[in-house]
Amino acid sequence: MAKTVKTEAEIFKEEFKKKVRDEAKMLYRKTLEEVSDRHKFVAVAYAVKDIVIDQWIATQKAYEKTDAKTVYYLSMEFLMGRALGNMIINLSSRNEIKEAIEELGLDLNVIEDQEPDAALGNGGLGRLAACFLDSLSTLGYPAYGCGIRYKYGMFQQKIEDGYQKEIPEDWLRHVNPLEIKREEYACEVKFGGFVRVEHRDGRNYFIQDGYQAVRAIPYDMPIVGYGNNVVNTLRIWDAEPIVHFNLDEFDKGAYMAAVEQENLAKTITEVLYPNDNHYAGKELRLKQQYFFISASLQIAIKKYLTKHDDLSKLPEKVVFQMNDTHPTLTVAELMRLLMDEYLLEWDEAWAITSKCCAYTNHTIMSEALEKWPIELFSRLLPRCYQIIEEINRRFIIDIENKYPGDHRKIEKMAIIYDGQVKMANLAICAGFSVNGVAKLHTEILEKQELRDFYEMFPEKFNNKTNGITQRRFLLHGNPLLAEWVTGKVGDDWITDLPKIQGIEVYADDKKAQAEFANIKYQNKVRLAKYIKEHNGIDVDPRSIFDVQVKRLHEYKRQLLNILHVMYLYNQIKEHPDMDFYPRTFIFGAKAAAGYKIAKLTIKLINSVADVINNDASINGKIKVVFIENYRVSNAEIIFAAADVSEQISTASKEASGTGNMKFMLNGALTLGTMDGANVEIVEEVGIDNAFIFGLSSDEVINYENNGGYDPMQIFNEDMDIRKVLMQLINGFYSPDDPERFRDIYNSLLNTQSTDKADRYFILKDFRSYAEAQKRVEEAYKDQEGWVKKAMLNVAHVGKFTSDRTIQEYVDDIWHLEKVKVDM
Ligand SMILES: *Cc1c(COP(=O)(O)O)cnc(C)c1O
Repeated sequence: MAKTVKTEAEIFKEEFKKKVRDEAKMLYRKTLEEVSDRHKFVAVAYAVKDIVIDQWIATQKAYEKTDAKTVYYLSMEFLMGRALGNMIINLSSRNEIKEAIEELGLDLNVIEDQEPDAALGNGGLGRLAACFLDSLSTLGYPAYGCGIRYKYGMFQQKIEDGYQKEIPEDWLRHVNPLEIKREEYACEVKFGGFVRVEHRDGRNYFIQDGYQAVRAIPYDMPIVGYGNNVVNTLRIWDAEPIVHFNLDEFDKGAYMAAVEQENLAKTITEVLYPNDNHYAGKELRLKQQYFFISASLQIAIKKYLTKHDDLSKLPEKVVFQMNDTHPTLTVAELMRLLMDEYLLEWDEAWAITSKCCAYTNHTIMSEALEKWPIELFSRLLPRCYQIIEEINRRFIIDIENKYPGDHRKIEKMAIIYDGQVKMANLAICAGFSVNGVAKLHTEILEKQELRDFYEMFPEKFNNKTNGITQRRFLLHGNPLLAEWVTGKVGDDWITDLPKIQGIEVYADDKKAQAEFANIKYQNKVRLAKYIKEHNGIDVDPRSIFDVQVKRLHEYKRQLLNILHVMYLYNQIKEHPDMDFYPRTFIFGAKAAAGYKIAKLTIKLINSVADVINNDASINGKIKVVFIENYRVSNAEIIFAAADVSEQISTASKEASGTGNMKFMLNGALTLGTMDGANVEIVEEVGIDNAFIFGLSSDEVINYENNGGYDPMQIFNEDMDIRKVLMQLINGFYSPDDPERFRDIYNSLLNTQSTDKADRYFILKDFRSYAEAQKRVEEAYKDQEGWVKKAMLNVAHVGKFTSDRTIQEYVDDIWHLEKVKVDM
């Protein structure tokens, strides 16, 4: 018999399969066939990690050797979702791994489904951080993501009787095979106490006394670049107590102090605050911020000093990007470390700090602005407070020099004012770069919200339109479309998304259109199955899948969407024979646990769903589905199946949005306002391939500043809208309690309170929205026309890759060099 020579791929696969079997045996004392699906996941994950580890080590070696500049992306949130599937598609050996898993008799989808989402974030801001890490690795730039290892991430949402219930998400209850605890980088973080000054050797030493401390311990997770052997690190910090009980020698005071430190450590990383775009002002939140910033900076400086001895050159090797104001303590803590620990003078420390820190603004909404009461801030962080006072004192002198006698400038720009520490003002004063996250948003910052700062420091301001990673949201989330695109134009799009424009030439090709339409249909069948399993509702994959998935927020206007559904239902009931193309309205949204009107909106959506879905007389023309527990893993399935992408925020309120880009990438058409990145989406795809409606941001801002909008007038004059609003308070959707939705009714018309009525211009935009929805229906009826528009959306999505965003950060802000990793 002829001996066959094994190929490299075959050897690799044999080794991989053996690794998986060995893991099952070592971990569970069983054969692979005998262990549970979850244990199969763990065994596969360890086998994959084994491949990743070698690249991780090689990458860090290459960074050391080239002494490359590193970006530290500082973020309170990283909404990573599941890691395993994404890691596999990014590895060069993806095909061998997938084949080996199949040859083991395992189903990769089932394995992937065993992994809990790493939901260390709320929504867009946290997901952006995750997409950025993917792009940084894929482009080969040295980077750390720095954050917090919350024991409980974003809560799990259950819907009970139509209401949201929050269940703690204990994502770490089982081992997390894809992380490594790094005890060797543990450090101490101090809270409270007081600052004592010692004069010695002709200088002042600032010493914190009477503090409580915790030990910060990092856990590293690998971030695998696409096919380039680059593995960066997401470093998330856990807290442990420093003092362990010594039962022989405690006195009462020491005992209490020990218990308090133990408790501090336990609480500090316990839970992610579930607010999106909303500042709650809780002391524990400020502790979390200081905790991860202090630890991240301590380690960053130590790492720098292993190769360098001149801290004045730190900005040549390190840049700190602050994701919103949450990490702005970076400014004060870096100053503190440089002066108090490394004994630099103020001016030297300031020269370094103001060259290392850059700030990204994510919102203009006043309720999201972080302003800490002086009392709280100075008690918790006495030394940082002193430093901020001094930064503020010097800054006010600068303002006065530039604008003599203009007190309004100080009122607007001072860092400490009115008894509060204003974090955005600190970030802008100290940072060398201030960026918005979409063109329109940056314009509003420059012209309205941060006008005074822009006037004083125009050179700091720049725009970085957000992006998303096509590797997760197309290659992984929509394998059918990914394969089709690759078949048409090759696979360059995976790392060079603008190449996807090559499919444009197929937009009029009947065969290609049919293939494309069929893929959308298959994805709708997949989602319909998910909905049947999770909601028990039958939806028709031939109906229009009209989707709004995002955090629940008044400014995002899920209420406008559901009021319009109520209106359509009334129309069908009043005119049973009217033309109507069947539509499935799909919602998914978590509301912050304490956000009453948002939670009531979820109940309204579910109540409307109950009535409409169970009305046999409308022949299933409308279905309404609320998908429970919207998160990254089910988002991937939802985007792939969408026909219509609802991006209907009140113009000027959504800084960018990234959901809008994920839908576009998957061939959904945008139904939206001229807000955030929608503006740029329309610019790319053309106005004919999207459905735009509503007030412009200028009009909204004008009404906000000058008044002149009266929703009551619309209520009195438009009988269709009046009927819908009356249904909120006459028990039509809540026969057991007609008053249930009174607060929603009041929020629109404000017959009761002193709050402004319809702050988000829902009634004002209603008719324009309904008319745009009509255009959607007409367009969809022309199947070929629709498929063409959908294909053109995919073809013109190139700009919205986070690879482009990261390259712009690199070119304009970070100035990093690419590093090659050879294996
Ligand atoms: C992309 C994403 C978001 C952000 O959606 P927007 O529509 O931009 O608000 C929120 N949550 C998840 C799970 C996401 O994937």
